[in-house]
Amino acid sequence: MAIISDNSDLLTGKSNENRKKNPIIKPETIEYDNTFENNIRPKDFDSYIGQSALKETLKVILESAKKRGKPLDHMLFYGPPGLGKTTIAGVIASQMGVDIKITSAPALERPRDIIGILMSLKGGEILFIDEIHRLNKVAEEILYPAMEDFTLDMTTGKSQTAKTLRVPLPKFTLIGATTKAGELSSPLRDRFGMIHRLEFYSVEELAKVVQRTAKILDINVTEEGAVAIGKRSRGTPRIANRLVKRVADFAIVKYDGLIDEKVANESLDILKIDEFGLDNTDRALLNLIIDKYDGGPVGIETIAAALSEDVRTIEDVCEPYLLQAGLIQRTPRGRKVSPEGYRHLGKSIGSEQTKLF
Ligand code: ADP
Repeated sequence: MAIISDNSDLLTGKSNENRKKNPIIKPETIEYDNTFENNIRPKDFDSYIGQSALKETLKVILESAKKRGKPLDHMLFYGPPGLGKTTIAGVIASQMGVDIKITSAPALERPRDIIGILMSLKGGEILFIDEIHRLNKVAEEILYPAMEDFTLDMTTGKSQTAKTLRVPLPKFTLIGATTKAGELSSPLRDRFGMIHRLEFYSVEELAKVVQRTAKILDINVTEEGAVAIGKRSRGTPRIANRLVKRVADFAIVKYDGLIDEKVANESLDILKIDEFGLDNTDRALLNLIIDKYDGGPVGIETIAAALSEDVRTIEDVCEPYLLQAGLIQRTPRGRKVSPEGYRHLGKSIGSEQTKLF
């Protein structure tokens, strides 16, 4: 069953993110399927590129759990979309030789959704909940004893005759993923034994992602071609994978099928992905703050409304990379375009703004 269909027309995955908000996820267990994204998902530590600190820590944790014959501690991974949170959960499961059940908080709306999934788990299995910051209060409260004591506290009957039943659960591992660790309630956050932030990837790492994906998809790419795509992938493997597919289309139709540096750059220019990896929405955001709000600061709601985008898409998808690239700055009064952001768009800073920097 598909988690998210992969017919996104926006290369940076923004429409995919929109779909994540209203996901085509059924409450029942979701298994890996054979969509594009799952076909190219690394299944072991060796093919999982980058994030070396995380991999080293995990290797130790996994080894220790195996030696002690104990289930893994619950883990929380956070960071912008497309950095490999779901993928690392799958790697952990396959390294432990256990099954993984994948779901997402918006699919766990009713108590019976979370109860059903918890009761279907077998010992040692991994339950992966994406967008865990969006769990509702009731689902969270069901999870607390499940995570802590591996029990389900169920109430039967009404008011005075109500009884609480403690149902034992198999020892499972919960892996949560979120783009917003700060929005997790502290009781939930405290129940994770390991919390790790995934980092943006370097150009070299992204070039490796491009080469790996190209090999799986039987696409010819030179080292320089892979680096050129890596440079415009916004530090994000999911974007690198999308770009390699799009550039391959150009290479086949317009060139002789080989992706070299020239083919990569020309194709990405045509696709309006600039040398920082910014697309039309990112540039529209920067232009808006500069042209309409004198460089900022301006509030996120105003930006989202002016761009007809959703606040969450701006916050989760556009902003993290613009901040990381130093093109915008976050201030208590809103977002500001940095001098680097002005330079990137070839605009000069107004006199008022110059005083501020
Ligand atoms: P997230 O769950 O953080 O949104 P995913 O785990 O779904 O991101 O990753 C998106 C895609 O990027 C995956 O299909 C996978 O192919 C690729 N990917 C992610 N991390 C890596 C990695 N470390 N090495 C290689 N490919 C990766």
